[in-house]
Amino acid sequence: MKKPILLSTPHIGDRELEFVKQAFETNWIAPAGPHIDAFEQEFCQVTGAGYAAAVSSGTAAIHLALQLVGVEVGDEVFCSTLTFVASANPIVYLGAKPVFIDSDRTSWNMDPHLLQEALEKRARYGKLPKAVIVVHLYGQTADLDPIIKICNQYDIPLIEDAAESLGATYKGCFSGTFGRIGIYSFNGNKIITTSGGGMLVSDDSQLVAKARFLATQARDPAPHYQHSQVGYNYRLSNVSAGIGRGQLCVLEQRIASRQRNFRIYASGLGRLPGIEFMPEPDYGCATRWLTCLTIDPKAFGADKEQVRLALAKEQIESRPVWKPLHLQPLFAECESIGGTVAEDLFARGLCLPSGSNLATEDLQRVIDEIIAVHRCSQKKELSLFI
Ligand SMILES: *Cc1c(COP(=O)(O)O)cnc(C)c1O
Repeated sequence: MKKPILLSTPHIGDRELEFVKQAFETNWIAPAGPHIDAFEQEFCQVTGAGYAAAVSSGTAAIHLALQLVGVEVGDEVFCSTLTFVASANPIVYLGAKPVFIDSDRTSWNMDPHLLQEALEKRARYGKLPKAVIVVHLYGQTADLDPIIKICNQYDIPLIEDAAESLGATYKGCFSGTFGRIGIYSFNGNKIITTSGGGMLVSDDSQLVAKARFLATQARDPAPHYQHSQVGYNYRLSNVSAGIGRGQLCVLEQRIASRQRNFRIYASGLGRLPGIEFMPEPDYGCATRWLTCLTIDPKAFGADKEQVRLALAKEQIESRPVWKPLHLQPLFAECESIGGTVAEDLFARGLCLPSGSNLATEDLQRVIDEIIAVHRCSQKKELSLFI
């Protein structure tokens, strides 16, 4: 049987075990400790973020972020529609309502024009959302300048979901550092991992201090465990933070490997009819966390699902582009602004194996299989005419 090629797996460097061993040797096996503080500081140095709070997941970070900007029961929060469900679930945790915004074709991320139109309209009715969550998908930032300008105009806090885009830049600065709050994920499939974890960043030190407070059960400063508001158990463990410190040391290499995957795929598949890769606008540099493409079935000869199944038969894991949230049964009642671009990207989009630990031979196997699907489909069509 052929060796499986998976979509995106953890890729551990040389130093993680050393940090984890330190945690064991000093008995800091707890959701507190020196690795957490160091991980937060080093994360700020690498990203340029002002302040950071390490938490148990990216989802927890979004939950805290929404609460910190004051989202409450009955409020509305605008959110990109083309994303993983974790971007919007915390809106529902707080009893607020998501309103989904379509993508643009140039970045696959939130369309700034649609956002502007929607907010102008809402301002006329006096019904502005409490926050905007912009998602930077697959390692690429949204077009932030116009989005920030519109949000500032209406004084709406912007939360950046940079779970998939650590290391991606917009006009030279890291994604996640532009909004009022940015969040990252260190889940096992992300560009770096702590086995599970997340980070919340902001330039407002008080906001980040409040995030830490809420993430540790909202304990008032008293020796007898006093509480005046609801808190959560959302801190990252010191052991996980040790893994994170090791992973930060290799972030640059991980980004370079994923960009290399993309270049190899682009040169191997770019000339096939009907294949288009996720475009990369000039304003930034994508990490290509996942290499994504769209397949036009008429031109290519097979659709994205046929390609996915053919790859799966060869032990190669690929995945459809996110199903837009406005199409999810969970959000059937929610309002959506536009949606046809995200729907089209979902209908034709596929994510290829993109781990930073893939060998050139692995990538070649994926390329060869996709070329084989194209050839077969052409022959079948020919056979109809013979
Ligand atoms: C992975 C992911 C999250 C959630 O992060 P977790 O650490 O898994 O909770 C949120 N948003 C997006 C876009 C993601 O890809």
